[in-house]
Amino acid sequence: MSFYFDHNATTPLSVAARQAWLEAVEKFWQNPSSLYPEAGAVARRLEDERESLAQLLGVNDVEDPGIVFTSGATESNNATIAHFAHANPDKYCALSAIEHPSVDAPASLHFGERLIKVAVSTDGTISLANLEQILAKGNVCLVCIMAANNETGVIQPCSEVSSLCRKYNVLFHCDAVQWFGKYDPTAIVALADIVVGSAHKFGAPKGTGFLRTSERARHLQLQSGGPQEQRRRAGTENLPGIAAMVRALEETTPNLSLWEQQREARDCFEATIVANLPGTSIIAGNSQRLPNTSMLIMPSGRNLKWLTRLGQRGFSVSTGSACSSGSEDGSHVLTSMGLSPSEINRALRISSGLDTGRDQWDALAKALNEVAEDINSGGSPAGKWIP
Ligand code: PLP
Repeated sequence: MSFYFDHNATTPLSVAARQAWLEAVEKFWQNPSSLYPEAGAVARRLEDERESLAQLLGVNDVEDPGIVFTSGATESNNATIAHFAHANPDKYCALSAIEHPSVDAPASLHFGERLIKVAVSTDGTISLANLEQILAKGNVCLVCIMAANNETGVIQPCSEVSSLCRKYNVLFHCDAVQWFGKYDPTAIVALADIVVGSAHKFGAPKGTGFLRTSERARHLQLQSGGPQEQRRRAGTENLPGIAAMVRALEETTPNLSLWEQQREARDCFEATIVANLPGTSIIAGNSQRLPNTSMLIMPSGRNLKWLTRLGQRGFSVSTGSACSSGSEDGSHVLTSMGLSPSEINRALRISSGLDTGRDQWDALAKALNEVAEDINSGGSPAGKWIP
């Protein structure tokens, strides 16, 4: 038996996304920029997908919905930040201390000294007071605040961030990768100037994503070298990936209320773990969080020990974001929330999907008990382990 509790890293392919991908790869394989009729059909299909996505995102501007298809969120975040850093050589970027590395690293690279970190409270949310202090100086061109954190699941106060950005006439970039598929897409798109999504976080294949710009950010150019995507992002469009992404997002819309069941199961799981394993703590347990995410600080033993032993029992969990899991550096998210290195080394991230059953949550709670006994008794991992 295997139990997958790492949906914040990636999700399995949905049936609808797979069908859409196969249909497009077989029937619409020509280059949409070519000039013969078959290619025209591909180009039309691409625009149909853009229109469908615009509807899902609540964008009414049919002439130009400001949607750019990309290869994923890492590209969208990198290219957005590089664009603004070079277009505004005298201005600063303000970004939260808990951004994903695909925002944090390009911001350091391109803005360098012109980068200001927005403080984060111990509850995992950004400090709005600190953001306002930064914006009041009048030298910021871009604010980067994510919709929901991939490690802790904490939802950020994007409505208030949006109001502050409008008050100070600054563009708001929102990495909403963990939002799409779990909450109403229109709600986040209405708040930010640049909103980023990634297909593989909601049941579509890896290597596809989108970015939506408001009218004031429409001059954003991501990649040069071709006329595609209204010259905003050069490169042959990945129609199969795009069609699969749009179907997968469509599929999530009627099911959003089902996440409440995951929230109940997650809360019940956390209560069981805290009762059974004294010394365990829940990160941001009292904050507004994604309904599927639980970040635990285990009472003893390094998180890699827990991860290995859980893996041997068929449970896939994470120590943090997938991007940092192989690195020796502790989580910058937990560091910015004031956790000590010893606590960070004991952090486990558990993230479920819509079809994760109560029985699976119960089985995970039981497995954690067994692993705790194993670790307390100093037992070593049995059998072969392939990392
Ligand atoms: N932003 C967040 C919040 C994420 O969780 C991830 C993936 O882990 C990314 C960006 C990167 O997305 P992609 O895999 O599409 O490049």
